[in-house]
Amino acid sequence: MPVGMIPLGLKDYAEISSWLGISRRLAERRLVCVVVSQTDGRRRVGVFGGTFDPPHMAHVLLAAEAVHQLDLDELIVTVAGVPWQKVGERQISPPEVRLAMCRSAFAPVERAHVSDIEIRRSGDSYTVDTLVALSEPQTTLFLLLGEDAAAGLDSWRRPHDVASLATIAVFPRRGHRQNALRAAVPKGFEAVDLELVGLEVSSTDIRRRVGAGEPIDGLVPASVKSLVAQHELYSGAAGESGR
Ligand code: ATP
Repeated sequence: MPVGMIPLGLKDYAEISSWLGISRRLAERRLVCVVVSQTDGRRRVGVFGGTFDPPHMAHVLLAAEAVHQLDLDELIVTVAGVPWQKVGERQISPPEVRLAMCRSAFAPVERAHVSDIEIRRSGDSYTVDTLVALSEPQTTLFLLLGEDAAAGLDSWRRPHDVASLATIAVFPRRGHRQNALRAAVPKGFEAVDLELVGLEVSSTDIRRRVGAGEPIDGLVPASVKSLVAQHELYSGAAGESGR
């Protein structure tokens, strides 16, 4: 929430106190109370992590909806350097290429920016380390997850620390829809439910389509399609099963 700051000096407080007929100290306190009650003084920051191999339209839409529905001051998209839960399953594109694709894909999303914090850190990319690094005293963190990712929360590193560092915000994912979103979240974790128009798109399916020579227009931003072609990604992914 944007906070408007007007620097006030002692003279200003003296003048305000004489207008209001109260002491200078009380004038100071009242003004502080007004600002705090309007904003609670905390920045609202969303964190949206993923492998993004490649980023697609559901990712972009989810990011824009998160900024809107959670009234975020900032959304940080974190690209996993070493997505430890996916390593070994398939070939992962180089982090710098996934970073470049994300920078172009999320550019139109207001208040969003893409961070390489997990790429610069060596070793497996654990969300808990990212949240610790992004935590600040005057910041409320929201961790954005599709419901498939939320369902696996208890398999993460230090999951309860993750939940205490950030409010977990869960988006529905087509094909994974539970009766209630909360049902997807493991027991013992608090989460808020957000809304998302169901888009049946996944990075797995995009990779498979590229490998099979099928079109990906409309499923990824045009700039991502160009980067996929430029870096000759996913040519061997025709056999990957789609979601
Ligand atoms: P893959 O198919 O390779 O597993 P993915 O499409 O799930 O990839 P990720 O980079 O793993 O993409 O996802 C990052 C985050 O975006 C996760 O929290 C995931 O749940 C969410 N997400 C991805 N696609 C969708 C979608 N279609 N609807 C809602 N959430 C999604």
